[in-house]
Amino acid sequence: MKTYCLDLDGTMYRGTAIIESAKAFLDHCLEKNIPFIFLTNNAMRTQDENRIHMEKMGYTGIKNEMFYNSAMASCEFVRKNYEGNKVYYIGQSGLKEALLENGFEISEEHPDFVFVGLNKNANYHDYSKALSFLLGGAKLIGTNKDHILASPNGFEMGNGAILAMFEFASKQVSPDIAKPSPTMLELCMEHFHLKKEDIILVGDNLETDIRLGQNTGVETIFVQTGIHTKEDIDRLGIFPTRVVNTLEELI
Ligand SMILES: [Mg+2]
Repeated sequence: MKTYCLDLDGTMYRGTAIIESAKAFLDHCLEKNIPFIFLTNNAMRTQDENRIHMEKMGYTGIKNEMFYNSAMASCEFVRKNYEGNKVYYIGQSGLKEALLENGFEISEEHPDFVFVGLNKNANYHDYSKALSFLLGGAKLIGTNKDHILASPNGFEMGNGAILAMFEFASKQVSPDIAKPSPTMLELCMEHFHLKKEDIILVGDNLETDIRLGQNTGVETIFVQTGIHTKEDIDRLGIFPTRVVNTLEELI
């Protein structure tokens, strides 16, 4: 039986609003013991916060260890590929927890890395401080390059937009870690002990969730409850294995 790797925003909920068809699907998976995990580019929430966020909307049967996010992936990526332990970061609790769990020391004394994972309360002063570390030799690590974020009132600046600002100012280029980069999938598969042929990527975003499947040869299901609709498929040239209106169609 394949494991569903479910995207969160636009797939399970929109902001703070539950997608009822997604809940029906998840309840079906729980009842039938169909395995699933959550794979998200959002680095802001910890596993615990993700679970609580979903429970507040009405989800049940969710466990912390089901979540894998781009903060976890970027910390594991840096551990594997670079030397250095001191980190300054622009981010929220999800990134902070991932950094600490991976043994990084959070420091403003000549950090080796500046992680950028979106903090909605960060200001010009914080950005300039981060820039000074980058110009002093710290390496720029963006958790994800999402252009925009869906919000209840429309859209907000995604981490990729903030990261682009840092790339422009520092003349560095961050490694590409999150969806649609195959790196995210490799780290996720290692984390959960899964193989490509064991998983189905499910998401609302053709350019991240579905492109990742297209880039890696992994089966995909595109659900039209989030930012893209089936009209975008030809325009973007990104082709899912299967298209559904809602996840309820998978029951
Ligand atoms: Mg999404």
